[in-house]
Amino acid sequence: MKIFKTISSIRSYLQELRNGKSIGFVPTMGALHQGHISLVHRANLENDIVVCSIFVNPIQFNKKEDLAKYPRTIEKDIIKLDEIECDVLFAPDVDEMYPEPVFDKYDFGHLEKVMEGQHRPGHFNGVAVVVKKLFDVIEPHKAYFGLKDYQQLKIIEKMVSSLSLDMQIVSCPTLREKDGLAMSSRNVRLSKYERSIAPAIFRVLNSLKEKINQITPAEAENWAIKQLNKFVEMKVEYFSIVGADDLLSVKSWDDRPHIVACTAINLGKVRLIDNIILF
Ligand code: AMP
Repeated sequence: MKIFKTISSIRSYLQELRNGKSIGFVPTMGALHQGHISLVHRANLENDIVVCSIFVNPIQFNKKEDLAKYPRTIEKDIIKLDEIECDVLFAPDVDEMYPEPVFDKYDFGHLEKVMEGQHRPGHFNGVAVVVKKLFDVIEPHKAYFGLKDYQQLKIIEKMVSSLSLDMQIVSCPTLREKDGLAMSSRNVRLSKYERSIAPAIFRVLNSLKEKINQITPAEAENWAIKQLNKFVEMKVEYFSIVGADDLLSVKSWDDRPHIVACTAINLGKVRLIDNIILF
């Protein structure tokens, strides 16, 4: 695997390599787990060249402490990427990505006003800035994103369509531990006890399937919040049942053709997000 830290070096390398070949791109913040690896696998199946990036993007963190504590395991990550035949790794420093202050402002309308957007001001602008910059550098044909970060996926799809970028966004299923907990780089920060109760998040999300058409979406949200709040260590930041495309809240189950439930939970000092597409 070729590793690059500067924009100019990866650009010139890809320029030569490209030559009619398709490029699949997997942007990450590192501390790689099987979820990330599944994206690289998929990119490998569908493209001639696979590029992965590892960059802990400071401007998408709205809390300094969260940025400081974000796990960084670049050496282990390189070994994992090498093993699964990733062709190119782009791992720039902050100064390389942001030599000057960033002023770009995106407007994603309602998509950025709810859930993660509401609770993490500036988060999605930071995500959009870095992803657009990475797209400009790599110029991929396809880019791979996990459904684990459902709202992020919707924001990126919106960015690509509104800027008419000539590329395809591929959404990939959430990989879970055997007990249902969504894989996340943040899971390593959970204490043993927190880790033992964390699977309740997906259990509750999954149980919502039985509530469809039995109670209203608002009642289902309240039911879910009540289940999760039974654990004193869990603080539900939001639990929202919304239209899968517009992320608008729904009054009844037939309001939208597809409905998703999304949640963010503070478990001890760790913030976890998860979701389920109900139909
Ligand atoms: P991150 O490094 O957390 O920014 O994630 C990089 C990419 O991996 C994003 O597109 C995430 O949605 C995706 N991802 C993170 N966790 C998982 C998972 N458990 N299953 C599938 N994809 C994931």
